[in-house]
Amino acid sequence: MPKKKEEKKKSIEEKLAMQKESMWLSLKKSEIKKAMKFAEDYKKFLSEAKTERETVDYIIREAEKKGFKNIEKFKKLIPGDKFYVVNRGKSIALGIVGKKSLDRFHLVVSHIDAPRIDLKPNPLYEDGDAALALFKTHYYGGIKKYQWVSRPLALHGIVYTKDGKKIDIRIGEDPDDPVFVIPDLLPHLARKVQGDRKLFEGIKGEELQLVIGNMPIEDEDVKQKIKTMILKILNDKYGITEEDFNSADIEIVPAAQPRDVGFDRSMVGAYGHDDRICAYTSLRAILEIENPTYTSIAFFYDKEEIGSDGNVGAQSNFLEYVLAKVFSIIKPNYKHIEFLEALYRSKTISADVSAAINPIFKGVHDMKNAAKAGYGVVISKYTGHGGKYGASEATAEFMAELRALFAKHGVQYQVAELGKVDEGGGGTIAKFFSRYGMDVVDIGPGLIGMHSPFEVVSKMDLWSAYKAYKVFLNQ
Ligand code: MN
Ligand code: MN
Repeated sequence: MPKKKEEKKKSIEEKLAMQKESMWLSLKKSEIKKAMKFAEDYKKFLSEAKTERETVDYIIREAEKKGFKNIEKFKKLIPGDKFYVVNRGKSIALGIVGKKSLDRFHLVVSHIDAPRIDLKPNPLYEDGDAALALFKTHYYGGIKKYQWVSRPLALHGIVYTKDGKKIDIRIGEDPDDPVFVIPDLLPHLARKVQGDRKLFEGIKGEELQLVIGNMPIEDEDVKQKIKTMILKILNDKYGITEEDFNSADIEIVPAAQPRDVGFDRSMVGAYGHDDRICAYTSLRAILEIENPTYTSIAFFYDKEEIGSDGNVGAQSNFLEYVLAKVFSIIKPNYKHIEFLEALYRSKTISADVSAAINPIFKGVHDMKNAAKAGYGVVISKYTGHGGKYGASEATAEFMAELRALFAKHGVQYQVAELGKVDEGGGGTIAKFFSRYGMDVVDIGPGLIGMHSPFEVVSKMDLWSAYKAYKVFLNQ
C-alpha cells in the first residue's frame, strides 16, 4: 500500500523567500523527454536556417504545411484564418485571426539575423606574394573578430547576374564541400604584431580576409592566374562574373553543425542561437495554436544586430503595414483611431536572448539578478545600458499579468538583468513596439557565449521559451 505523504510543514523562509529550482529537477521525466525531442527538432532547424533568408524560406515552408497562406490570397479574414506576409525575403509575419479579431493584437517579435561576416561588394583579389586568392569582408554586428579566425567557414547567400537571374549559394555545409578560412598568425611571429594589441584588436576589421584559392590557371595571356581560376570555377558552376558580386547578399558563417554539449547532453551548442532560438520557439508556438481569442502574430525581423534600421528591420513600418492589411480586409472602412486604439491595447513579447552566468567571468553579473542555465526563460523587465538608458521598461502591471499567466500554465521563468549596472548592456527591439503604446516585455532564454560562433543554451531554457510564447499567444 502506498504511504500517505505527510505534508511537510513550510518554514517561514520557505513561505516568504523566492524559491527557484533547476527545471531538470522540477519537471516530470515525461516532460523532460519532450523537451529533449524538441531540442533535436531545433538543431535540425539551426543547421538548415543559417541566414535570415534561409530562415524566412524555412518559416514559409513550415507555415504552409499548417495551412497558413499569403495574405494576398484572402478576400476576407475570419477567426481561425492563418496568414503570412513576407518582406523582401528577409523578414516575415505569421498571424492567426482571433475571435475578437480587431480588438487588440498579441505579438511575439524576434529577429532572424545573427552576427556574422559579409562579403564586400567588390570582394575578390589575388595576393601575388602569397600566391592566394582572397575575399575581402565587412563584418556584420557585434562580433569579437578574433573568434572568427582559423575555423572552417561557409558561404551562404544569393547573387543576381547581369540578366537578373537569381543564383543561390550555399558552400561549406555538405561534408564533401570545401570550406574557407580567415588565417590567424602563427604564435611564433605574433609576439609584436598581435601581442601588443588589446584583445578586441587581435584581429582588425580589414584583416578579416577569407582564403579561397591557390591554383593558377594555365594560360600565358592571363596576368592574375589564381584570381582568374576562381572566376572560371564560379562561372562554370554558377554562371556568374566578377561584377555580379555587386548585386549579391553573401554571408560568411561557421561551417559547423549544432551539437549537444556536456556528458549529460543537457545543452545545445551552435552558431546563431541569438536570435533564431526565439524565432524557432515562437514559430513552433504559432504553428501549434488554434482559435486564439485575440489575433496572434509572430514577427521575424532582420537587421536587429545592426540597430534594426532599414526596410526589413523592426524600425521600418512593417508592423503597421501588416496590421493595416488585416484591418483593411476585415473592416475595409475602418477609422485610423480604431487602428491606433487596437495597437495601444496590444501586448507584445519581444523575444530575444539574455545572458546566462558564465562561470569563468562571474564578475560581470550581479548574482542576485543574473540568469542561471536551466532555470527557465528569462524575463527582462528592462534592457539597456547603465541608468536604464535606451530601455523600454515593462510596467509592474504587465509583469504581474505575465507572472500570473506563467504560474497558471506551469511555465518556469526567471527575472534577470544582462549584467552589472555599469558593466555594459544591450538593446532589443522592444522599444520599437512600445512607441505604439502597447505593453512590451523582453523574454528569451539565457545564452552562454552570446555572439560567438558557438553559443550555448540549456535545453530546459529552450523548452521554457517555447512554452512561454505558446501560452502568451494562445490566451
Ligand atoms: Mn538578439
Ligand atoms: Mn545579438
